Amino acid sequence: MLTVGVDVGGTSVRAGVVDAGGAVLDTTRSPTPEGGAPLEKAVVAAVTELTARHPVAAVGLAVAGFVTENRLGVRFAPHLAWRDTPVAEEMTGQLGLPVVLEHDTNAAALAEYRFGAARGAKVAVLVALGTGIGGALLVDGQAFRGAYGVAPELGHLRLVPGGRACPCGKRGCWERYCSGTALGATAVELMATYPAMATVLDGASVTGRRVAAAAREGDPVARRAMAELAVWLGEGFALVADVYDPEVIVVGGGVSESAPLFLDEARQHYAAVVTGAGHRPLARVRTAQLGADAGIVGAATLARDLITDPGRPGIRRPR
Ligand SMILES: [Zn+2]
Repeated sequence: MLTVGVDVGGTSVRAGVVDAGGAVLDTTRSPTPEGGAPLEKAVVAAVTELTARHPVAAVGLAVAGFVTENRLGVRFAPHLAWRDTPVAEEMTGQLGLPVVLEHDTNAAALAEYRFGAARGAKVAVLVALGTGIGGALLVDGQAFRGAYGVAPELGHLRLVPGGRACPCGKRGCWERYCSGTALGATAVELMATYPAMATVLDGASVTGRRVAAAAREGDPVARRAMAELAVWLGEGFALVADVYDPEVIVVGGGVSESAPLFLDEARQHYAAVVTGAGHRPLARVRTAQLGADAGIVGAATLARDLITDPGRPGIRRPR
């Protein structure tokens, strides 16, 4: 049985046909349109393109936003037009297929649990380092979403009182120190503080991606920025471990592509500062294995569960 997973993000709608082993067999991609109705059309078009080529049993959507508890609608998505929209019902009506929704980070975590770095872990945390930090907590393979569906907001844990301002309105949030955006900000700060330090970076547009590339080449400022990210990452892991005591912490997102430049240091710092250091088992800290396809694979897996496990939420039959 094949299912389709659709990653509905702020910049693109990516869909893939996924088999029972989590392999992505075929994909399609289009830019995310503005407006709720055009977005639904884009998702339907992506799925229709794939169902024309493959026999598909169900569809899962990984959405960059808050999904309702019953996994059928979107409450709010900062970079998408959907507001209190019953997406699954509308999609099922148009596609004639069962549809289920999930928050994109939860979907990615599920994919890592079934097929990747968190396989079989009793308690697993995904920390996705991208533009911000996305967080997911899986307990026995089920996403923990809190009483109202917004947990866990790991990116906005306050790591540094009075620290860098965050668009969420607080200061010192974890994602201000460990996201791709933060990596650029740290490099800019370092250049201002140590103007004599040699660097290939210039002040104009220092992105996380550029800092990562420079760090790979051994650039002193970029290396230092990576070292700072590593320390804050370790601090954050320790907080997460104190609350959830996970078996595995999976580090994903675009920044994780540079993991060899910071992950060992982050692990060491985490091991040193976690409560009860030296007297408790530590979470294994691993890099995500499914890369940019994690959302697609996770959503497609939820769609498969909809067919194989009647207890799961979602719309099974077209009305
Ligand atoms: Zn924040």
